[in-house]
Amino acid sequence: MCRGCFNQLFLRDEFYSGGIAGLLGEAVGKPTRRAFMAYSVASASALTGVGASPVFAADEGADLILLGGTIRPLAGAPVASAVAIKRGKVLAIGDESALSGLKTGDTKIIDLDGRTVLPGLIDPHCHTILASLIFELLDDVGYAKYPTRENLVAHLRQEAAAAPNGQWIVGSNFDNLLQGGDFTLSELNAISSDHPIFVWYTNGHDACVNSEALKVAGIAEDIGDLPGGGHFGRGADGKLNGMVYEESAMLKFAVHFLGKITPEVASKAVTDFCRHIASVGATMMHEPGTLRSEWIEPFAKLSNTLACRTSASVMFGDTRGLTPFLSRGLGKGAPVGDSMFSLYGVKIVGDGSNQTETGAQTKPYLNSASKGSPNFDAAQMKDMVAEVKALGLPVQIHCNGDYTADIALDAIEAAYAGSTDYGVNRIEHSTMARPDQILRMKKLNVQPSFLMNHVRFYGAAYRDEIFGPERAAFMDPAGACVKAGLPFTLHTDGPCSPPGPLALISTAVTRRCIIDNSVVGPDQAVSLDDAIRAVTIDAARQLGQGDRLGSLEKGKEADFTILESDPYKVSPDAIADIKVSETWVAGERKFSA
Ligand SMILES: [Zn+2]
Ligand SMILES: [Zn+2]
Repeated sequence: MCRGCFNQLFLRDEFYSGGIAGLLGEAVGKPTRRAFMAYSVASASALTGVGASPVFAADEGADLILLGGTIRPLAGAPVASAVAIKRGKVLAIGDESALSGLKTGDTKIIDLDGRTVLPGLIDPHCHTILASLIFELLDDVGYAKYPTRENLVAHLRQEAAAAPNGQWIVGSNFDNLLQGGDFTLSELNAISSDHPIFVWYTNGHDACVNSEALKVAGIAEDIGDLPGGGHFGRGADGKLNGMVYEESAMLKFAVHFLGKITPEVASKAVTDFCRHIASVGATMMHEPGTLRSEWIEPFAKLSNTLACRTSASVMFGDTRGLTPFLSRGLGKGAPVGDSMFSLYGVKIVGDGSNQTETGAQTKPYLNSASKGSPNFDAAQMKDMVAEVKALGLPVQIHCNGDYTADIALDAIEAAYAGSTDYGVNRIEHSTMARPDQILRMKKLNVQPSFLMNHVRFYGAAYRDEIFGPERAAFMDPAGACVKAGLPFTLHTDGPCSPPGPLALISTAVTRRCIIDNSVVGPDQAVSLDDAIRAVTIDAARQLGQGDRLGSLEKGKEADFTILESDPYKVSPDAIADIKVSETWVAGERKFSA
């Protein structure tokens, strides 16, 4: 059964001419000599730190100076009023008069007009490829667009009325926890009996369909379970109720509504999604494990045309394809050649999702005897982590439940013994990590990354339906990390929650669940400085790039996000709604509102 961060339905061979390996076009066999030289230079500079401290001739002026606003080079550090940029890197930062000597006849001046500059915001865990395909190919019917059941039903009715007879009506991102519960068969049949309807849940694992969809897909009333955990829901009368579970069952429908995805469609999807990522303020995102090694070369080639930097880790099991890159010193954060794409570590998916009660816990879920179950036992986890360490790479382990975090930390301790020589080892989500596990992470130099939108959207559901108030108060425990002196990061896990680092910052500070306006776990709130560090410098460090990204310092890459308002001067709840004005990557404007 697929129990990853997200179902990988889209990554099936069926949807791609020539199979999924060719998603972004043919992988290049051997690197050209020019590319090899670029790899060597990138690896050497990563090792020596040369890339972090370029030597500028004293008489060289700036290409660009930004002034007239509030520049926050690093959360907690003094504010500046001007920054000078040369060849895509920060040349100097300070007050306007101190930088005036860097202005030549060729220097371009940008007036910030009172706006605020932050270091480029980073989403360290967003499933780039999957989110791109969903974003590009399916109609988003999620909570952000249709917050009530009535809105959603009206929208689906409208779609059906406008579509030619028999055309599929397909929606994605449906959130049963926030949009009125599972659809019944009769509810969907009432929306349309002429059009097959398929509504894909935001958890990626479930979908619901109407009778026409069952008919078109040829699902017989007596259908049994499918390989890989696929199965169909049944009502109290034993009849199919329109619920569809897991990839192999959803595939029966998806082959009818998804055409063949060509490399051109996939490249356009990634391009459009990166533009969206830039528009919500991010200058970089990391694809955790849903990148296949065959896509590394074509992705690197595409990356320089994208609106943000990209980074990725491959999934455990796909590491053989990494070998040519490891021999070039890649896999610990250095860019692939002269591209804007980098590789960092190997991903292991330790359990499922707490919203579907498949995260593995040491105690049962609320009103349940089930504790969920891990995808691997302790011995398997140890072997897998040891294998990643043997490659000389850091590991990222998805642990939604505290039981999974226990076996993941045991495995990391056994393999790495606290060493960070290979980079930072991460526990992805760490949603229900216990107080003792936060202290243990500190001791082992392991860092968590929190999906803070869990609190924003599901905080009330965790408290009232899934864990009870006491355990929910310690969900996504960023405050405990601050107390322990343990760096942490914040991520969206797109497409599991909407991209956009500002909502993560806001929620980490307020701990507000926007569904019922309650505050969940106020003790775990962090300061604005800490929240911003978690999507800038600490995110860069968790991707092996703390020496080049994450703050605006002399010699670092000129990646920054320009906001219409200063997050330090609005209420913490309003931070999520601050308008992103521009994003810049390596001294180039990538997005402008
Ligand atoms: Zn995950
Ligand atoms: Zn994920």
